[in-house]
Amino acid sequence: MTKIEHIGIAVKDIGGAGIIYEKLLNTKVYKIEDVESEGVKTAFLKSGPNKIELLEATSADSPISKFIEKRGEGIHHIAFDVEDIVAEMVRLKKEGFILLNEIPKEGADNKLVCFIHPKSTNGVLIELCQSKP
Ligand code: ZN
Repeated sequence: MTKIEHIGIAVKDIGGAGIIYEKLLNTKVYKIEDVESEGVKTAFLKSGPNKIELLEATSADSPISKFIEKRGEGIHHIAFDVEDIVAEMVRLKKEGFILLNEIPKEGADNKLVCFIHPKSTNGVLIELCQSKP
C-alpha cells in the first residue's frame, strides 16, 4: 500500500454536504459520479494531495443507507492506494482479513476496488484501490 487514497464520508444529502466541505476546504467539488453497482452517488474534493469522497445512498438497500441507519452520518471508510490490487487481496486474505469481494470491482474515480470487512480491521471499513491504466 502506497498511501491513503481518500477518506469516504457517508452523508444524507450530497448537495448540502458538498457545500459544507467546499467551504471547509476552500475548494470546489471536482467530480460527481454515480456508482450504480454500490447504490451510491459520490462527490470528490481535494485538499492538497488528499482526497475526500462524499457518499450518498441512491437506494434504500445501499450499504450507505444501512450505515447511516445504524451509525448516522460520518466517516465510512479509509481507502488505500495499491499498485497491484490482486496481489494485495491474496496477501491480505492469507493474513486472515475478510474480503468483501473476491474479485476486484469497478469503483468511482476510475479505480478497481476491494473492500475489507470492518470485523477484521478493528471496526474500520477499508477500501483498496488501484488506478485503472
Ligand atoms: Zn472510497
